[in-house]
Amino acid sequence: MSQFVTQIVDAIRTVSGTGCALHEPQLSGNASTYVVDCIDTGWVSSVGSYVDRFEQEVAAIAGTRFGIATVNGTAALHAALLLVGVTAGDEVIVPAMSFVATANAVRNCHATPAFVDINAATLGMCPDALEAYLQEHAHKDGDRLVNRLTGQRIAAIVPMHTFGHPCDMERLCEIADRYSLPIVEDAAESLGSYCHDRHTGSFGRLGVISFNGNKIVTTGGGGAIVTDDEALAAKAKHLTTTGKIRHPWFFEHDCHAFNYRMPNLNAALGCSQLEQLPEFLATKRKIAHAYREALSGIQGVRFVEERQSCRSNYWLNAICLSDADESVRDAILNATNAVGIGTRACWTPLNRLPMYQDCPKGDLSVTDRFFASAINIPSGCGLWQGS
Ligand SMILES: *Cc1c(COP(=O)(O)O)cnc(C)c1O
Repeated sequence: MSQFVTQIVDAIRTVSGTGCALHEPQLSGNASTYVVDCIDTGWVSSVGSYVDRFEQEVAAIAGTRFGIATVNGTAALHAALLLVGVTAGDEVIVPAMSFVATANAVRNCHATPAFVDINAATLGMCPDALEAYLQEHAHKDGDRLVNRLTGQRIAAIVPMHTFGHPCDMERLCEIADRYSLPIVEDAAESLGSYCHDRHTGSFGRLGVISFNGNKIVTTGGGGAIVTDDEALAAKAKHLTTTGKIRHPWFFEHDCHAFNYRMPNLNAALGCSQLEQLPEFLATKRKIAHAYREALSGIQGVRFVEERQSCRSNYWLNAICLSDADESVRDAILNATNAVGIGTRACWTPLNRLPMYQDCPKGDLSVTDRFFASAINIPSGCGLWQGS
């Protein structure tokens, strides 16, 4: 093994120790009290006071007027895309470097994802790449914006805040406005992250948060839609609760809708987790800082830097090697996993996945380089013993 690889493995180990997964949840605080309360009262399913409380608290954290809890983040994204008018045959612009759910939610609307590059500093959708893609592909046809190569209507843009690092929402919003395209923000990973004092997820017409087991706050499985738009919030609730018309005894539904509602049991866990968010954020910051210190003496490794006037939740740490050489990346992945340090490669670029290979795309050189040179390292709050 090269000395470079050994040095990196040793430095990671000083922070992570061994025998750790990439991200483990911290289920302490009032978790069992609230969950047992659901069981004792019988309110375990799709109605209950924890759901209402969770929705209000999520909206309060996001700084939006409304929050709608869902079964998972993918369902929230699917509903949000439908709510901004994405329909079959449309095209939706997403970053090529994201979790597969971002593209799957588009496909769930029978629409096509179009992939644009990320920015090396933020790891989020690159405004220049978005602009270049639109300049090359977008053509105004009456009040429709059409991809001139495929003839498909371009319907929305979905920026994503990678690993909790806020992307450049000011510029992305400015471009979206200029093309009259709605933004649905994939803030699945960025609860507690801010861009100029505004919470991520609150810039788009709708924002989406995930509460999957590996996220900074978990409900077991879960998601939420956040928005300031009262009419859209009402529609979001309706669309995610089977389109049922409110009535004491008649069961009537006025649209094809989904059972995407979060159960009360999950919301109860979520309420306890939200109480711990400030503590989790402080711990995440310490872990991120400790990794930076531990690896600071090694040439050829970098981390994402928090941008001025933005605040990252530091959900998931990643090291990025200056030489985009997959064999070095793989040697580090092998050596760390061999000693029980749960590292992994970043997501395979979405445009390379078999079901998305034929989708439209812009230049993806930053995505390719990042994939070849980046490694996610253990980041669960349980790593921090000093707090
Ligand atoms: C976690 C995640 C989602 C949603 O995932 P669910 O597991 O369905 O809650 C969506 N996008 C990104 C980028 C994610 O990391």
